[in-house]
Amino acid sequence: MHTLIFATNNDHKIKEIQSLVGKDFNIITLKQAGIDIDIPEPHDTLQENATEKAVTIQQLTSENCFSEDTGLEIDALNGEPGVKSARYAGDERNFQANIDKVLEKLKGNSNRKAQFRTVICLLWNKESFYFEGICEGTISEKMHGEEGFGYDPIFIPTGASKSFAEMTMAEKNKFSHRQKAVTKLFTFLHSI
Ligand code: IMP
Repeated sequence: MHTLIFATNNDHKIKEIQSLVGKDFNIITLKQAGIDIDIPEPHDTLQENATEKAVTIQQLTSENCFSEDTGLEIDALNGEPGVKSARYAGDERNFQANIDKVLEKLKGNSNRKAQFRTVICLLWNKESFYFEGICEGTISEKMHGEEGFGYDPIFIPTGASKSFAEMTMAEKNKFSHRQKAVTKLFTFLHSI
């Protein structure tokens, strides 16, 4: 069994990923690794932020680890909030304020196309590897559902008739950007 640290403090992401991992890998969270830091996300791309998070944790622990950075990219807003998804409405990273800002900016706009994009950075035996997952969909006119986190209540994936926040975790995982990137990660890990 290989141990890997997942460089995040987001409990939702940890649960989503743990539900996808097979028995060959033991995923350790930052809390379980005894690390209590707010990892910086200062860059202009998801890839640079993912790299910074993974490198920070590897320097602290010397363990193999991976991190991910995700953004909601909205067509009519030229890809916003994108890499700034967590702090779109301010540094307090408030999910509701972020949603309100998106809905306000899209008010009256019929182009509701959007996608979630996840980039994973794996640091494995000092080498870095990247995996991407995309989930296309649309932004609803108002919020639907209570599950999940972040922009889930206003994102309806293509092929579904309800928002991520109206789905169980298993349903969300059938469409999820993160699931696609994690599947690529574990396919790679099983191949080496
Ligand atoms: P992070 O920087 O990767 O933590 O993600 C940035 C922000 O994107 C989060 O704070 C959430 O608001 C949003 N986000 C990331 N993944 C998801 C998701 O699966 N559903 C809804 N929102 C998400």
